[in-house]
Amino acid sequence: MTAAQAEPTIFERIAAREIPASIVAETARVIAFHDIAPQAPVHVVVTPKAGDYRDVVELAAGDPDLLAELVSVARDIAGELADGEFRLVFNTGAAAGQTVFHVHAHVLAGGLEEASLG
Ligand code: 5GP
Repeated sequence: MTAAQAEPTIFERIAAREIPASIVAETARVIAFHDIAPQAPVHVVVTPKAGDYRDVVELAAGDPDLLAELVSVARDIAGELADGEFRLVFNTGAAAGQTVFHVHAHVLAGGLEEASLG
């Protein structure tokens, strides 16, 4: 939840174990879980547990080490659940399809050869 937000986002509530999710990886600052509406054979959301950043632009400016940790967790997941190759998507802004305003990466993997962007 950022200073401008009154309520925790759904991803913060998943991190707090208030809402169930199929968790696949976790570090002290990052949590990863299967997307509820998968768009690929492997579709995992990787997100900080704390809600200080709305999107990847804010995260990159405010905590680049945490951004690097998100990427590292994404790499590990793609290695464990697929062949190690993956697409990493950060929807940034409502017009770009962002619906949860708590920075997160979509890890998409497995059989993406025919998939178009978007
Ligand atoms: P965005 O559109 O913000 O980039 O991505 C939000 C993603 O969160 C969507 O792919 C959506 O399916 C997923 N999502 C929304 N609510 C839940 C939920 O309660 N549980 C899980 N696991 N994923 C969710």
